[in-house]
Amino acid sequence: MWIDTHCHLDAPEFDADRDAVRQQARHAGVGLCVLPAVQRAHWAGVQALAAQHGDAYALGIHPLYVPQAQDDDLQALDAALSEARDDPRLVAVGEIGLDFFVPALCTPDLRERQWHFYVAQLKLARKHGLPVILHVRRSADALLKGLRQIPVSGGIAHAFNGSAQQAQTFIDLGFALGFGGAMTFERATALRALAQSLPLQSLVLETDAPDIPPQWIYRTAEARASGLAQGRNTPAELPRLAQVLAELRGLDVQALAQATSGNARRVLPGLERLT
Ligand SMILES: [Zn+2]
Repeated sequence: MWIDTHCHLDAPEFDADRDAVRQQARHAGVGLCVLPAVQRAHWAGVQALAAQHGDAYALGIHPLYVPQAQDDDLQALDAALSEARDDPRLVAVGEIGLDFFVPALCTPDLRERQWHFYVAQLKLARKHGLPVILHVRRSADALLKGLRQIPVSGGIAHAFNGSAQQAQTFIDLGFALGFGGAMTFERATALRALAQSLPLQSLVLETDAPDIPPQWIYRTAEARASGLAQGRNTPAELPRLAQVLAELRGLDVQALAQATSGNARRVLPGLERLT
């Protein structure tokens, strides 16, 4: 059985056929999805979706949603985590982190505000005894600095895209690294080298659907201009992503399923209750 450790099933891209999308993934062998929330308005939605489909969820405020977030969202998150204490489907605080790629988020004020929300949510993860799901974009060193100041019980560095040394530091702090669509592009040589060389016990698989479409779905701007629609990434792509990783590592795909699912349960221990 496959575990998609990062899927935004609550995204508007799935409004028309959300149940069918989840069903299709199940038929493809994806037994469990982790649904990270991106903002306060989505917390109840991911909780309901996880309950409906037998999946897991995380609650948090994503760095891309920090500009709209209110200070009292952090108190609300604290309360929501307390309320969900006995909900076996709550497995992490997430998606949290820092994005230093999107130019609009890189003004001094917004860098500061992202840091404020990141650190505050690390403290909540500690308080509630939960791992975290991290958004890493040009921000690995800053994220690691936060983790050294406020150690948490590990989690996942999702869509990992840093250096081998940064990867090792996350691993030393109890994290697994999430691999998905980005590694399917041949030009992603550094990322593919990491996917090949990192210890197998540090890898988890994720689609990040509907974001980060794999190479076989992605349409270039040119192709789109000529009338081809951008394909939609869904959790049903997970086994094919796994096939790419298995080939990169010269591994049997069943062995990879077993290893990556075991890794997911180790870094998000709440998943044990669901599988
Ligand atoms: Zn995400």
